[in-house]
Amino acid sequence: MSAKFVMSPSVKRSNAAKSERVACPNCAVALVIQRGDRPEIDECGFESYSLSCRACGSALAGIVDPLDDSLLLAISS
Ligand SMILES: [Zn+2]
Repeated sequence: MSAKFVMSPSVKRSNAAKSERVACPNCAVALVIQRGDRPEIDECGFESYSLSCRACGSALAGIVDPLDDSLLLAISS
């Protein structure tokens, strides 16, 4: 892991990132996903994110529904 993630106000673009509040589907803890910093588009055209729950450690997959821009979170295996 050599990539560095640096947040700098000077390079922040408008609409570049927005926080999305979600609940862990396993333990229901509140999580915040930073959308837009490195979006991945899957083979179905969905904007997807992978993350792990900070509370229970579950591997989670978030997918943005392009129809209503809502973020859906599921446990990934
Ligand atoms: Zn959890």
